[in-house]
Amino acid sequence: MMTLKQQIIDKFIEYGADIVRFGRVADCRDEAIKKIMPEAKTIICGAFRQLRGARRGIEEGSTYYQYTTNAVEVLEENVMPIAMLKVCSVLEDAGFEALPQRRNQTIMQESNSTNFEVDYREIYRNKVAENQLNFEMCAEDCNLGEKGLSGSILTDEFGPFQRYVFILTDAEIEADPKVVPHLCDNCQKCINACPGKALKADGSRDPWQCSAYYIGANMTKNPFMPPEAFADDPERLAIICGEAKLSAERAKEVIEQIIYYPPIKHSYWSSICGKACDTECYIHLEEKGVLKKHFKTPFRKREKWELPILSE
Ligand code: SF4
Ligand code: SF4
Repeated sequence: MMTLKQQIIDKFIEYGADIVRFGRVADCRDEAIKKIMPEAKTIICGAFRQLRGARRGIEEGSTYYQYTTNAVEVLEENVMPIAMLKVCSVLEDAGFEALPQRRNQTIMQESNSTNFEVDYREIYRNKVAENQLNFEMCAEDCNLGEKGLSGSILTDEFGPFQRYVFILTDAEIEADPKVVPHLCDNCQKCINACPGKALKADGSRDPWQCSAYYIGANMTKNPFMPPEAFADDPERLAIICGEAKLSAERAKEVIEQIIYYPPIKHSYWSSICGKACDTECYIHLEEKGVLKKHFKTPFRKREKWELPILSE
């Protein structure tokens, strides 16, 4: 008879997951797990690839909505929740409780932070009673992959190109082997790739800086920004060249002025940078030949492009 672990793997795969990993709650550092589900014994991770092709349009500077719709929204809002519910049903059928956990995009404990993927006005801050998993920490402890300098989880299969969900359960299921970090070599390419210098040398991310440049504050990487953008702003050149250091208040002012591209449903910002930090990391890992998922051609096929700085 098939083990419960194999049934879970098979169901996740059937519903679109590419990698399924298991960790022992007793080995997890995130204290939120025990608050959310005190009886939890196992944490299960389902990871779903972000199609490499979803980044093609931004890489070429030709078409932009596919990254956010296909590599963010459809995964987060459609594919992953359905897969989680189906896997939770497998656990329930075996007599165990299962609690699905997806990233909460619009509730945060911090009082002055933001989530670069969604409209900052949609976020409810200071919600200290809302326990939420630290997704990157749990992904490491669930043996999915290693945390790169950029903060993204890197896997042997897809590098930084995946998103993931968790299931907490009181079922005791054998954990997978610990991942020994071996992919991130501190090359700093993720840091240098950011069009807004939102990542510091130690990999920490300025959430507001990232928010402004994720949606296109750098004119050299935003084909939708008109020449008159920021015409009256004394910091115009610094902003559109990606050199400005934005406070939270300043970032909000910049964000209000750079929505040249419609947002996606569910309040996801349309990404103009295409998460360039992850893209450069992927290219680096691909060039090094350390990824298990191979393509017939390399992702980067042409020189990186840059648009000129225009004035009205
Ligand atoms: S490349 Fe984009 S997603 Fe990455 S840190 Fe910079 S603005 Fe944020
Ligand atoms: S780009 Fe280099 S430094 Fe950054 S996460 Fe990837 S391997 Fe690590």
